[in-house]
Amino acid sequence: MLFEEPSNVRKTKQLGILIAGESGLGKSTFVNNLCNRDVFQETNTVDFANAHLDPGLEIFSRQVQINERNQYPVDLHLVLVNGLGDNIDNSELPGRIVTYLDKQFEIALSEENKPSIVSRSIDTRPHVCLYFIRPTCRGLREIDILSMKALCEKVNLIPIIAKSDLLTEEELCLNKTLIMQSLEENKVRIYDFSDNRSEMTSTDNLKKASKTPHTVCTKNLSKNVPFAIISSNDVQVDEAGRTHHVRKYPWGTVEVEDPNVSDFTLLRELLLNSCLEKFKTRTHEVLYKNYKIGKLLERKTFKKSSFSPDSLQRNSSHYEYATRVSTSDSDAFSALESLKSSKNDSKNSNDKDDLIFAYEQKILKLQKLHKV
Ligand code: GDP
Repeated sequence: MLFEEPSNVRKTKQLGILIAGESGLGKSTFVNNLCNRDVFQETNTVDFANAHLDPGLEIFSRQVQINERNQYPVDLHLVLVNGLGDNIDNSELPGRIVTYLDKQFEIALSEENKPSIVSRSIDTRPHVCLYFIRPTCRGLREIDILSMKALCEKVNLIPIIAKSDLLTEEELCLNKTLIMQSLEENKVRIYDFSDNRSEMTSTDNLKKASKTPHTVCTKNLSKNVPFAIISSNDVQVDEAGRTHHVRKYPWGTVEVEDPNVSDFTLLRELLLNSCLEKFKTRTHEVLYKNYKIGKLLERKTFKKSSFSPDSLQRNSSHYEYATRVSTSDSDAFSALESLKSSKNDSKNSNDKDDLIFAYEQKILKLQKLHKV
């Protein structure tokens, strides 16, 4: 190496975070707490004059660098999706977020195809999505299920119970159980923290002996999901001169960073440290590759079908396979088996050969990724 990097120069990491949910759940406040500065404006006022109008869906993005002592600087690409569930008819909203995410994959794909001497722009793909759930809902609303089902195919999904200070301990435990049941019943695939045990040493000191629902269980982090957080833009300075974000109530004050009452500190640790690389790897190796395979199959189908006499029939069967390829990695194994067994009893077996090849490539990559 010609120029050696001085040891005091810390490499910058990069992460894309999508924060989605209904308006007024504290998403902007959470981002401000995470970044320790005002990134998004907190919404305190209600516009009564326009309250009868559908607010639609708003997508804002910001670039922020977080520079904490003894940690790598992290460049955050923050995307705030506001208004999920605010409208009378919300049916089109999940599709609009998926279109947004596909567009970011498309940008990454065109960046990949650029010659190496051309400078590349920043990666705008969100690597993780924090989905904010209304605390007083007792489980999930239909729009939450629809949105999360669509999102989990495109981004690492983490459900968050917003404003958990509005719930008692019992209510919070019940809510967590109902949310997890609902996610399971509807086959919503949230990010799997179960292999995170060995990396949780830095959060060990967050663990307190208390048995509250917020206790950080380093042995099985999945049990903390959905994370329940409190956020606030109010600050208080302690005797040692340190600043803390606090929520003030008539009966006292709660610290946002206190692991006994909020999962905020744990979540920040996972996002900016322990899981940052894992979120990025799964985004690139699984979710983005699924998108690419889907695109390739679409193109292939289009090319071949334009020459074939029975194109209509083929198109529909290919579309079915193409969507199956892009839906989930474990499906790839069963889809491959069913394709192989049906290969000989169909007219378009050449096309199926191509699909089998695509599936085999995908499975090989997955096996490499998971070191099977
Ligand atoms: P957004 O529309 O989801 O971005 O919500 P905002 O961050 O603008 O917050 C809406 C309101 O909720 C503001 O008045 C915040 O002060 C308040 N808020 C934010 N986080 C919490 C929380 O954890 N608990 C409570 N009780 N209120 C919160």
